[in-house]
Amino acid sequence: MAVIYNMGLKEKDKKLKQIKDQVLKCKSCPLYKTRKLPVIGQGNHGADILFIGEAPGKNEDETGIPFCGRAGNILNELLEYINLKRKDVYICNIIKCRPPQNRDPKPEEIKKCTPYLEKQLKIIEPKIICSLGRFAMTFLMNKYGLKNELKSISKDHGNKYDIKVFSKDTIFIPMYHPAVATYNPNMKDVLKKDFKLLQKYE
Ligand code: URA
Repeated sequence: MAVIYNMGLKEKDKKLKQIKDQVLKCKSCPLYKTRKLPVIGQGNHGADILFIGEAPGKNEDETGIPFCGRAGNILNELLEYINLKRKDVYICNIIKCRPPQNRDPKPEEIKKCTPYLEKQLKIIEPKIICSLGRFAMTFLMNKYGLKNELKSISKDHGNKYDIKVFSKDTIFIPMYHPAVATYNPNMKDVLKKDFKLLQKYE
């Protein structure tokens, strides 16, 4: 596949809009029937840091904005902790449509939806990709040659891996999903420590 480097921002905007149009029409899996709005992604199209969560929840489904509910408040807090704003980074999910009752994404849904994510990665070309939670971590580690390194989120979070995304050297850091801090407040410190790692690469 051709490698696109140093695409201008206008070109990135245009290509990301094309993905949005494709996702709006997507019927590759049954989730389009039950979701209200797909959640494509939000933030800086030229971002150095790109976060990948799991799937839209109720609030995201209603607004089309990723991480705009309780987990989003924690994500905002974590970004502020390292002096970043949402507009500095790009935030998306491994699947674009909300699974009913917030159930886990199914392997088939991940398989059908992640080509859109891969296109986003190719266009945005982040220097650092952070997975939030085990679904995004598992997808990325399997996809980018880290299958043998994959243990569990409790062991892998905060590790730094060098990966190639469409031939581009990229840093991959798995992190816990911010929602863990909503049911276990002690986890906020673990998340903060992992987010601190990002400051090294600013
Ligand atoms: N949880 C996620 O993984 N993604 C969102 O967009 C919201 C909550």
